[in-house]
Amino acid sequence: MHPLYSTLLGDTRFHELLLDCDQDIAIAARRERCLLCRSVVHSARYRRKPRGRPAGLGEEHDWRFSFCCTLDGCRKRKTPPSLRFLGRKVYLAAMVVLIAIMREGATPGRMGRLSGLVGVDRRTVQRWRKWWRDRFTTSPFWRQAAAAFMPPVNQDRLPASLIERFIGSAPERLIAVLRLLLPITGGNAVHVV
Ligand SMILES: [Zn+2]
Repeated sequence: MHPLYSTLLGDTRFHELLLDCDQDIAIAARRERCLLCRSVVHSARYRRKPRGRPAGLGEEHDWRFSFCCTLDGCRKRKTPPSLRFLGRKVYLAAMVVLIAIMREGATPGRMGRLSGLVGVDRRTVQRWRKWWRDRFTTSPFWRQAAAAFMPPVNQDRLPASLIERFIGSAPERLIAVLRLLLPITGGNAVHVV
């Protein structure tokens, strides 16, 4: 399972697919108008500098979809959920999930090769592991989401134990996990990230 996932991170078609999904989510968010006053919203996307992407992706992948209310005095910003950006994390959401999975049971040698392959240093990988184990598992979001899994998801093995619960090909499973995480990715998200 691990080699499949590492291929996925370097697959530009996979990143195009994530962008397409984000576009659909953004279109729906725009249609819903302003959360406060129901006025029309306009695009107020902003540039991120995501790390962890393969070379050769266009600059359209740098942008985080976001909207701003057009009504003077309101101007409320609304940033829809995303399959690509996990809150303020600088690495792509897919990486934060996959590296933590590939890390499981890895020897120091293999971990070194993995870090080199995706350009993430060990400290970052350790930090993500801690994030999954501590902050994520204790978040109100996860407590609620976890209740949907029976038998319960093994929290010590997140996110590997989570992706194993979904069926399908590697990309399908990864997208299922990213979809599950959507509520904690947006501007009005629960602050886990
Ligand atoms: Zn408004």
